Amino acid sequence: MQDGTRVASGVELADGRTISANKEVVISAGTIRTPQLLLLSGIGPKEELDNHGIEQVVESPEVGKNLWDHFGLMQTWKLRHPEIGASLGSTAWIDSKFMNGNLIDWWVNQSVSKEELSTALELDGESVEGEHSLLRTPRCYLGLFVHYVRLPLDGSVISTWALDHIPTSRGSVTLSSKDIEQKPIIDHNHYATEADRYRIRTGTRTIAKILNTLSGKEIAVGEVLPDGIHLVLENLSDEDINARICVNRSTIQHPAGTASMGKVVDTRLRRSSSRGAWVEGRREDLRRKLKLQKKQAVGLKAATIYELADSKVPVARAEPKT
Ligand SMILES: Cc1cc2nc3c(=O)[nH]c(=O)nc-3n(C[C@H](O)[C@H](O)[C@H](O)COP(=O)(O)OP(=O)(O)OC[C@H]3O[C@@H](n4cnc5c(N)ncnc54)[C@H](O)[C@@H]3O)c2cc1C
Repeated sequence: MQDGTRVASGVELADGRTISANKEVVISAGTIRTPQLLLLSGIGPKEELDNHGIEQVVESPEVGKNLWDHFGLMQTWKLRHPEIGASLGSTAWIDSKFMNGNLIDWWVNQSVSKEELSTALELDGESVEGEHSLLRTPRCYLGLFVHYVRLPLDGSVISTWALDHIPTSRGSVTLSSKDIEQKPIIDHNHYATEADRYRIRTGTRTIAKILNTLSGKEIAVGEVLPDGIHLVLENLSDEDINARICVNRSTIQHPAGTASMGKVVDTRLRRSSSRGAWVEGRREDLRRKLKLQKKQAVGLKAATIYELADSKVPVARAEPKT
């Protein structure tokens, strides 16, 4: 305790040894393990901690909540001319520089109809009065791209993605056990909202449109379909595309949100004070950081993490421990 406030003073290792902190403790164990560590340390919702016989040290109801990810529909397409080496696995794929970076040439961002998105959000029970963050200005809601790799790894197929950049579905990470060696329970809850389903359907129809042009047909003979699954055409019904996406939806492994800023940590990435006024007093800072996150969360994740880390480090070094 320090001035009536509990302060983390170090860490306990799995083998029982403890290490004391000179200044402060930084937890950066990723989206899945960070909430697990917090919960095992007694920082989290009381009910969940009680379920595992863990004494609550700090009330923090949002730990492990708010899990989100970049997910969407991945489709596999059979190449018309595999002999030209357009996909990994082909014997014609011999230039080593093709292996530098991701096997992608382009990534197109797509917006969607404001009216239709608004209807979808309303169906999800969200208020669209005033300024909903997804409706204020057109956003890069979707990412569409071709990936020059897919199984079987023989150069005969490519894959396409219609990816939801700004999902509204939220999942969770909870404890399976109070044993650190046991993996936590991950509930992705992908594709749970109509706003997400609407946007991924829109992207999927765009992919179908592109691959069904004369140029598209020259590249791909057609889609390789799982058994009993509909070919996605532009005019396929919403229900059929939904069913298709439920079978083939996938993630590009960008989970985030389980120690959410403003709920679990404050704008300096510290555990939030239970006094709302603490965040309130730094509203401008919060706005600036959230703007940064929103701007970058539509693209890839690592850049956001580097920028947040950059902005945190001077703060952490300059501030006294509280
Ligand atoms: C296959 C794949 C491809 C990706 N491609 C891209 C991409 O192209 N571009 C992009 O921007 N992002 C990409 N990402 C996402 C990006 O890698 C992650 O968002 C980023 O690495 C997350 O950083 P982090 O520091 O939060 O967590 P992590 O990188 O997961 O780091 C957490 C660290 O904590 C350690 N740890 C966990 N638990 C404990 C514990 N109890 N004690 C001690 N240490 C612990 C882990 O071993 C790990 O080293 C990809 C992710 C995957 C899985």
